[in-house]
Amino acid sequence: MHENRFQAQDRLAAGAQFIAGELRRGTSGTSHTVVDPATGRPVHTYELAGTDDVDAAVAAARAAYPGWSRATPGERSDALHAFAAVLGERAEEFVQAESLQCGKPLKLSREFDVPGTVDNAAFFAGAARHLQGSSAGEYSGDHTSYVRREPIGVVGSIAPWNYPLQMAAWKILPAVAAGNTIVLKPSELTPFTSLLFAEAATAAGLPDGVVNIVSGAGLGAGEHLVGHEDVAMTSFTGSTAVGRRVAEIATAGVKRLHLELGGKAPFVVFDDADLDAAVHGAVAGALINSGQDCTAATRAYVQRPLYDAFVAGVADLMATVQVGDPFDPATDIGPLISHAHRDRVAGFVERARGYARVVTGGEAPGGGLAPGAYYRPTLIADAPQDSEAVQAEIFGPVLVVLPFDSDDEGLRLANDTPYGLAASAWTRDVFRAGRATREIQAGCVWVNDHIPILSEMPHGGYKASGYGKDMSAYSFEEYTQIKHVMYDNTAVARKDWHRTVFGRR
Ligand code: NAD
Repeated sequence: MHENRFQAQDRLAAGAQFIAGELRRGTSGTSHTVVDPATGRPVHTYELAGTDDVDAAVAAARAAYPGWSRATPGERSDALHAFAAVLGERAEEFVQAESLQCGKPLKLSREFDVPGTVDNAAFFAGAARHLQGSSAGEYSGDHTSYVRREPIGVVGSIAPWNYPLQMAAWKILPAVAAGNTIVLKPSELTPFTSLLFAEAATAAGLPDGVVNIVSGAGLGAGEHLVGHEDVAMTSFTGSTAVGRRVAEIATAGVKRLHLELGGKAPFVVFDDADLDAAVHGAVAGALINSGQDCTAATRAYVQRPLYDAFVAGVADLMATVQVGDPFDPATDIGPLISHAHRDRVAGFVERARGYARVVTGGEAPGGGLAPGAYYRPTLIADAPQDSEAVQAEIFGPVLVVLPFDSDDEGLRLANDTPYGLAASAWTRDVFRAGRATREIQAGCVWVNDHIPILSEMPHGGYKASGYGKDMSAYSFEEYTQIKHVMYDNTAVARKDWHRTVFGRR
C-alpha cells in the first residue's frame, strides 16, 4: 500500500485559499481533513474558507475585472497558451495530487484527467480569439446595427469531487477566455488540484485576481458565493438536489445560471450490435473513475436475442477488472471517494437484492484493501424499470441491465428517467442509429462507444441534468452576454417614427 505522497503538501500548508495570486489560510475557524480513500489515512488538514474569504476572493476578482476584460483577445490568448505550457510542464504533479485526493488510478489521471485539461487550456487559448457576433448591417435602412459579445463580470463557480481538475478547467477556462474573472469553490473533499491549477495560471502570467479559489463547505462558503451581490453569474456542477438549491439562490439575485447536474446514462444495445464491442464498451463505460462519472453507463437496455449473452459477457469481463491501490500500475479501478459514499453505493445494491438479481460484485473487497473505500464492480439484472436501481443516480461501479423487445420499447425506456446528460446506442444499422440519436433526450449520444469527450464539442444536459454547455465554443454562450448597438445614420433631428408619440401628419 502506498504512503501518502503529495509533493505540493508543504506549499499548501500555507493555506488552501488562493486569493489575488497568493495562498492564504481560511478564516472560518473550522478545519477539514482530506482523507486518502485508498487507505482511510488523513492526508492534509486545512482551514475551510469562511464568508470573509469569499468576500476577499470576490473583491480580488472584481478588482482584476476591468484590466482583464479590456485585454485584447490576443493578449488573453497568449496568457492561456502560456498557461497550457505550464500545465504541461507540471503534469506529473497534477497526476499525483489528483490520484491521491480522489483515489483515481494513476493511469486514469495520467492518460485522461491531466492531458484532457492541458488540451482544454490549449483549446481555449485559441478560442479566445474567435468570439463571434452576427454581422453589422442596415436592417432599418436608417440605422447601422451590430452585436457586441461582452463578458459578464465576476463568475462564481462550484465544482464536485469526481473530476476536480477537469471541473476546475471546464469552469475557469471559458470564463477567463471570454474576459470574465472567477472565484471557484472546489469540493471540500478535493481542493488540491484546483489550487495547483490557479497557481499555474499565476505562474503563466494571468494577472492576480483573475482566477481565485475558495476551499470551503457548500452551506457556508458555497451559498455565500452564489448569493454574493458582486457575483454576476453562477456556474455549478454537482448533484441535481444541490443544483436546485443553488438555482433558488441565484434566481433570487437574478443572476445568469449554468447548471451541470446528475446523470443516469442509458446504454441501448440493439439486436444487430457487435456483442463483443457492446460488452467491452459497457464495462469500460460503467467502471470509469469507479463509476463516479456523470456520463457513466448505468442502465444497459439489451434487445432480447442478445440479452443472456450480454449479461454473461459483462459479468465475466467485470470479474477480470483489477480493483486496488491507485498508485499500483496494475490497478484498473481504485476506491470510491469516501467510506460514506461507498456505504451509500452498497446500500443501493443491498436494497436491490430484494427486487433484482446481483449477478456479480455486490461487496467490498477484504484483505489488504479492507481499510479503503473500495467496492467491487457490480452487475444487477432484472430490476424493474421503476425501481430505485434504475431510476436513481448510484454514482459507483454498478451497472443495471434490462431486456427490451421492440426498438420503440428500448428508446422509450432509455428516456424514462428524470435525467438527460448522456446516452449511447449500439447497432450496425445506420437507420436505427439515426433514430436513436434523434429520439434519445440527452446532451450527448454516442454511437458504438460511450465516454469519450473532446475540447471542441459541448458537454451538458437535458431535463434534470441541467442546462448550458461546458467546453467547446458553445460554452461562450454561458460566459458572455450580447449587446445590440444601433447607430442612427440619417443625422435627421425629426425622425419619422416620432409621429407615433407626438405631432400629426
Ligand atoms: P454535490 O452536489 O454534493 O456537491 C457539488 C458542490 O456543491 C460541492 O463543491 C459542494 O461543496 C457544493 N455544495 C453543496 N451544498 C451546497 C449549497 N447548499 N450551496 C452551494 N454549494 C453547495 O455533488 P458531489 O457529490 O460533489 O458530486 C457528484 C455529483 O456531481 C453527481 O450528481 C454527478 O452526476 C454530478 N456531476 C455532474 C457533472 C456534469 O457535467 N453534469 C459532472 C461531474 C459531476
